[in-house]
Amino acid sequence: MEKKQYQLGDIVQMKKPHPCGTNEMEIIRLGMDIRIKCVGCKHSVLVPRAKFESKLKKVLRSASTEAAQSSEEL
Ligand SMILES: [Zn+2]
Repeated sequence: MEKKQYQLGDIVQMKKPHPCGTNEMEIIRLGMDIRIKCVGCKHSVLVPRAKFESKLKKVLRSASTEAAQSSEEL
């Protein structure tokens, strides 16, 4: 099972799209809880990290592209 890597400012895709129809969320706070903001309607929600990871589908765009580049392709 792949380990999902995400960081502050990343645009992520969740398993379920937001009710507004957008399926892109920006990580605006990282901690024990994670705050994500819908790119479409700007609505933000606070979710526990475990819940966030279970609902996270994939990271669409990393805030730091250099850090995201790895010599090891998985
Ligand atoms: Zn939305």
